Amino acid sequence: MQNALIVLLSFVGMEMFTAVFHRVVMHHLLWVIHRTHHVRESDGPFEWNDVFVLFFTTSAIGLIIAGLPDGVTVWIGSGIALYGMTYFVVHDMVIHRRFLRMPRPTSGYLHAVYRAHMAHHKHTTNHTGEAYGLLWVPPKYWLSSQKRRSQGA
Ligand SMILES: [Zn+2]
Ligand SMILES: [Zn+2]
Repeated sequence: MQNALIVLLSFVGMEMFTAVFHRVVMHHLLWVIHRTHHVRESDGPFEWNDVFVLFFTTSAIGLIIAGLPDGVTVWIGSGIALYGMTYFVVHDMVIHRRFLRMPRPTSGYLHAVYRAHMAHHKHTTNHTGEAYGLLWVPPKYWLSSQKRRSQGA
């Protein structure tokens, strides 16, 4: 039970950490790498921005291995890994339709996530930005999602 709570807290913590990391590191210090996700320059299946996936995956695996068999970092690493997998499915497969070309969400929670992330992608410089998080959708994007649907878009 306690371990499940650590996994859950790590998952929630990752959403908060990612929002700050995305804003401070990816849009400033390492914008040269993250830019490849905002300004598409090649048609290949990968972009330089994917090194961030490698970084988080390695961190999660490292934490799990360091804590084996049942140390606290096993559960922290599992929460990070679970968040990473969720992020990959929602951000890469559903929103950007990489690899599987899943259908675009047209209603509900995923549509609000999609609208918020598209607002984030409107910015192609590192100086301006919005909606740095992913799974937590600020209220204004829920409203814009509902408005779009009532207009039939
Ligand atoms: Zn970004
Ligand atoms: Zn994106």
